[in-house]
Amino acid sequence: MTFRTRFAPSPTGPLHLGHAYSALLAYDMAQAAGGEFLLRIEDIDQSRARRQWEDQIYDDLAWLGLRWPLPVMRQSDRLDVYDAALDRLWALGLLYVCTCSRADIANATSAPQEGVPAFGPDGLIYPGSCRNSPRNGLRPKQAVLRLDMALAVQGMDTVGFVETGIHAGDVILPADDLVHTVGDIVLARRDMGTSYHLSVVVDDADQQITTVVRGKDLFEATQIHVVLQRLLGLATPRYYHHALVRDETGKRLAKRDDARAISLYRADGLLPNDIRNILINVKV
Ligand code: GLU
Repeated sequence: MTFRTRFAPSPTGPLHLGHAYSALLAYDMAQAAGGEFLLRIEDIDQSRARRQWEDQIYDDLAWLGLRWPLPVMRQSDRLDVYDAALDRLWALGLLYVCTCSRADIANATSAPQEGVPAFGPDGLIYPGSCRNSPRNGLRPKQAVLRLDMALAVQGMDTVGFVETGIHAGDVILPADDLVHTVGDIVLARRDMGTSYHLSVVVDDADQQITTVVRGKDLFEATQIHVVLQRLLGLATPRYYHHALVRDETGKRLAKRDDARAISLYRADGLLPNDIRNILINVKV
């Protein structure tokens, strides 16, 4: 199988050094393997995504020396594909409508049980207040839909994937653990009609990605992606989670660390190789 990877930025601000690191790493890995590097624009959050940032992404990546096949996949063009995946999970009885506000969830989880984690890879672990809402009939649109994790992992012994970046090796987790360590995550948000987890899984499969290269901040989310791949009958790619670029105080660059925007380095007269040199000390 040909090596095929992708870079999947969200056009919600300027690309910074952390993005450049991820994109260059993925691109170089594809080149070294004689494979392919794809670009995907993750713009399902229409309240934050801007065309201006998308155009800047194309410009910055091309300036860095990256090339990718056209047309570029844009998540906002694929809402019907995510809809179909949600329909499938709904038909299996694995989704339910959640009407809880943030405050409801915070109140219900204010006295966590000893030995049970309060936070999972997707934030506060949902206490299950709406789990008994009806699951029959047509799938409600414009509703928050959660995955019933206990039902989702039924019949799965383990949840596993091959990690080739940090902690390289097989990652294998008892499937039942996810009920308590991840919980009933949101798969469709009211405003988006989908979610990061659902879209990323469907898109990586449709783009036939063989190795997902991304920051290690998403390592913990990967178990969720594997569950969704199993439920939707999709192959699990290999994962390469890389180190995060940090500032001089050791803090990882924020999603919108404008001070390290590639466009600013460009305006200062730096060249793509200077960016590569700045990034040379990032480990893995
Ligand atoms: N769109 C995500 C981000 O910008 C990347 C998701 C991924 O690589 O899986 O953080």
